[in-house]
Amino acid sequence: MTDTQAQNLHIEEDARSTGTCDCCGHETVSLSGFVSDGAAPLAAYFVAYTSGQPDHGAEFTFITGDWANEATAKDRYVIVLLHFPGRGFMIDSDVATKKANMRELASNFLDRDDIVGSDFADKLFGMVDAVYTRDSRLDELRNWKPDA
Ligand SMILES: [Zn+2]
Repeated sequence: MTDTQAQNLHIEEDARSTGTCDCCGHETVSLSGFVSDGAAPLAAYFVAYTSGQPDHGAEFTFITGDWANEATAKDRYVIVLLHFPGRGFMIDSDVATKKANMRELASNFLDRDDIVGSDFADKLFGMVDAVYTRDSRLDELRNWKPDA
């Protein structure tokens, strides 16, 4: 994906909710939104992280595929990426929990082997980049520093 293509993606911010991290009691933040190319929706996305705990990492979930009204969960795919400061994004292959949580939205799950080297990889990382750099609610993540 060229820079121009990435810039043509639109981010629409949706819900934000908070909770409490089981392990440390810090606030957890869950965000959702949509990526589109200006005409058609490309993906719904969800970001989850624990405030003040960069070492927990952040989880970015994308649901891509067909979002037309007549489309069903069978027409959509889930990709989960883990983000740690200084280490970029890694595709999470351990999506067992997500499968249970997201069955109503999408019934297909892609892991690293499905994505790396495919045409879809460029498209996916264009969307990841657009969300990471442009969702106005991710200032904390953008300011996370890698461990010295
Ligand atoms: Zn914690």
